[in-house]
Amino acid sequence: MDDRPKMNELPRFNRSIDATPTGAEMLPVARLRDPSLHHARTGCPFHDVRQMLKEAGLRPTRQRLALGWLLFAKGDRHISAEILHEEAQRARFPVSLATVYNTLHQFTEVGLLRELALDGSRAFFDTNVHDHHHFFLEGENELLDIPLSAVNMDKTPEPPPGYEVARVDVVVRVRRKSTS
Ligand SMILES: [Zn+2]
Repeated sequence: MDDRPKMNELPRFNRSIDATPTGAEMLPVARLRDPSLHHARTGCPFHDVRQMLKEAGLRPTRQRLALGWLLFAKGDRHISAEILHEEAQRARFPVSLATVYNTLHQFTEVGLLRELALDGSRAFFDTNVHDHHHFFLEGENELLDIPLSAVNMDKTPEPPPGYEVARVDVVVRVRRKSTS
């Protein structure tokens, strides 16, 4: 009777359009996603964080949503648990520092964040999980990204027998020039 069943398939053709990045509004993690996943981004940070958590296999609890929103809605950043905790307090989101730590580690385990440990005690969490390197601004406790291509990796040392290089993280420590 109805010989137009193909109309139902129309949304399929639009999917690539729906998945097109929406520019500045797109979350950093959304950018990492394979566009072939076809998950439409709405540009609404809360909505996108919920989707991102689901894709990563994490239940979108209120705490994860709120912390995820604080983490990912502002573009790429390097943040410590303490700073994120402060931001949550300022946003009037009552959460303990321990919960912030747990959530950051959960996000790291599923690949939404990369943990960068410096000097053993200081841990930064990077929302940019693409391979890249860092400047560490000594005395200012801050990290800046260095693009992968800016570091010449021609002479990576041969790994010990039975091992392969998983990843190379370069941290270049810089300090302000003295003015004298
Ligand atoms: Zn980084």
